[in-house]
Amino acid sequence: MQNISRRLQKINYSQTLAMSAKTRSLKEKGIDIISLSIGEPDFSPPSYILEAAKNAIDQGHHYYSPVAGYLELREAICEKFLRDNSLHYNPSQIVVSAGSKQAISNLFLSLLDPGDKVIIPAPFWVSYYEIVNLCEAIPVIIHTSISTDFKITPEQLEGAITPDVKIFIFSSPCNPSGSVYSYDELKRLSEVFVKYQKIIIVSDEIYEYINYSEKYTSIGSFTEIYEQTVTLNGISKSFAMTGWRIGFIGAPLWIAKACEKVQGQTSSGANSIAQQSAIIALKSNPNRISYMIEAFRNRRNLVLEMMKEIPGFRSNIPDGSFYIFPNVSEIFGNTFLGVKIYNAYDLSMFLLEKAQVATVAGNSFGEESYLRISYATSEETLKEAFKRIKRMLA
Ligand code: PMP
Repeated sequence: MQNISRRLQKINYSQTLAMSAKTRSLKEKGIDIISLSIGEPDFSPPSYILEAAKNAIDQGHHYYSPVAGYLELREAICEKFLRDNSLHYNPSQIVVSAGSKQAISNLFLSLLDPGDKVIIPAPFWVSYYEIVNLCEAIPVIIHTSISTDFKITPEQLEGAITPDVKIFIFSSPCNPSGSVYSYDELKRLSEVFVKYQKIIIVSDEIYEYINYSEKYTSIGSFTEIYEQTVTLNGISKSFAMTGWRIGFIGAPLWIAKACEKVQGQTSSGANSIAQQSAIIALKSNPNRISYMIEAFRNRRNLVLEMMKEIPGFRSNIPDGSFYIFPNVSEIFGNTFLGVKIYNAYDLSMFLLEKAQVATVAGNSFGEESYLRISYATSEETLKEAFKRIKRMLA
């Protein structure tokens, strides 16, 4: 008899991973699918980082590392936080995990009791919502739209706060909207948080370097809220190292210790070879990866141009990450090739089956009228994908 826990029955499979799996299986059958659903760069990691991994093997880093990560890596993370983010952490405030996804589940398991609330601005990255559910806590969603560049206002934030809110989590640059909060916008949000010092702010900065706007600001750098902020980052996106599984937090000591406790019982230290490579990645000058950021910026511009020609697609101008999140509600109710499109899910399935282009419906990101398109692929592929979409929706 199948007897899955009630907790797990309440959560959904990751739609983004499901779409990747579906795309992979169609490709294996020989169908020419273009994937614009994937959340990972199409580049190889820089060669100096690959060298570091080979050296780590030769030097014999084969054994368990400390649960929170090698001291040398935690020191490199502190230097990175200071260099890029004006954030002062010491190594005991750092916990390295198997990807920032594990860091988020450590955090939520450490901080949430059943019934606690977590404020999540929508659109949001799929897993925030489901990990909250896994902890039997309650997501509180703040909706946004293109008109505010998908950013929340201080008034919206304050309106969502109740005594049982324990965590606020957001990503900037955002997956899926590409929005990047400016210094001033973050400052105004910090002025709300300072009134509610029990709320822990989780600032997901995994796309920090993939930013085409002004200088990047970390919300934890506003000193009044430093003690209530956890800064989350990793090497997956910026260094094109999604499979290496290294993410990390800088946090108040009590939170870092709690996360270390969870991780010590659920998995232990992250992969030792990947940690050694992360030391080199994080110590290196961020200019060394600017060629990737430039490529993403050019692709963003190309996609914006091509999207103008697709009737019914409306978007903001994303300033970072490698996604665009058009509103496609004008298409709902229309019929193409005999298929009636009622919602974004129908549209993404239609595009997959008829145009052979994989995207992800906005539902899993908390906004039903949108489609997430990833442009982490070559310009040539993007051109072909948009040609197909345009043809099918003509
Ligand atoms: N946060 C955001 C906003 C993401 O998009 C992702 C990956 N899609 C993650 C966290 C997790 O990344 P990783 O576990 O590879 O560090």
